Amino acid sequence: MKSILFLEPVFKQMIWGGRQLADQFGYEIPGDRTGECWAVSAHPNGDCVVREGAYQGKTLSQLWREEPGLFGNSDLDRFPLLVKIIDAKDDLSIQVHPDDAYAGENENGSLGKTECWYILDCPEKASLVVGHNAGSRQELQEMIEQERWGELIREIPVKKGDFIQINPGTVHAIKGGLMILETQQNSDITYRVYDYGRLTDGKPRQLHVKQSIDVITVPAPSAADSVKSALALPENTMNELISCDYYTVWKLDVAGVMSFEQTHPFLIMSVIEGEGSVDGRRICKGDHFILPQGYGTAELRGEMTLIASSVR
Ligand code: ZN
Repeated sequence: MKSILFLEPVFKQMIWGGRQLADQFGYEIPGDRTGECWAVSAHPNGDCVVREGAYQGKTLSQLWREEPGLFGNSDLDRFPLLVKIIDAKDDLSIQVHPDDAYAGENENGSLGKTECWYILDCPEKASLVVGHNAGSRQELQEMIEQERWGELIREIPVKKGDFIQINPGTVHAIKGGLMILETQQNSDITYRVYDYGRLTDGKPRQLHVKQSIDVITVPAPSAADSVKSALALPENTMNELISCDYYTVWKLDVAGVMSFEQTHPFLIMSVIEGEGSVDGRRICKGDHFILPQGYGTAELRGEMTLIASSVR
C-alpha cells in the first residue's frame, strides 16, 4: 500500500495576521502577526516538506517531479493546488485575481487564480467583501479613480460553516476576525484594488489599479450566487461543496467510522475539527495529508471534520 503523505506547514507573517493559528490550531507560529498557514503547497514561496516516512524531508514540488505516480502521472507542469488556513486579525486588502489567460500573458506565464473559502470561525455579524456594485466598466473605473469605495464594495453577511467560491475577476476581501480554509490554484498573483490607506514601514503597499480594472468581472454575479451554507451535511459521506475546472472540494463529518475508496489522482485532506485516525494513524485538528493515487480504501475513525480536495 502507498503511504500517506503528511506535510509540514509553512507560516507567513502578514500585517493583518494574528495568533489564532497557535491558539486554535496548536501550531508553533513564528510571530504575533502570523496570517497564513500554507498547509499543502508546492509553491516556490512556500514549499511544504513531508514530515515522516519514505519521503521524509522531500518537498512537495520535488515529489511532484520525482514521483509522478503518487499524483496520477498528471501532465500538468506543477502541483496544481494550494491549501491555506488564514487568520485575519485585521482586514485584508481588497483584491482581485486574473484568469489563466491574463496571468499567462502579463505575469510571466503564471497561472491565474480561482479560490474558495470555508469559514472555520468568525464573530457574530461577520461579513466578507465579495463582488461590487458598478454597473459598467466605465462606472467601475470612475468609482476606483474617485476612490468611492463605500459605493463600490459589496459586503455580504457570513457565518461559520459558509462556503464561498471566488472566480477570477471577483472583487474580494477577508475581513478582520475571520478564520478561513482556502483551497486555490497554485498561484500567487493578486491585484490589490484598495488597502484602506494603510502603511507598512511608513509606505502604502502597491496597488494594481490598471490590472484590476482590466480583470474585474462587470457586473458582478449576485451575492446569493456567491455564498452557500455547508453546515449540517450528512455524516460519514463526502459532501461535494464545489466542482470547477481546477478543483473539487468536499466536506466530511466523521462520526464513528467511515470508509471510502481513493479514486482521484490524489486526495488532499485537512482536519479542521476534532480528532480520530486514518487507517490507524492518529490525526487531529490542524493535520494535513495527501492520499496518493492508488491508495485504495481509506478508513477514518473518530469525531472530526475534514475538508478534502482534488483535481479531475
Ligand atoms: Zn484571493
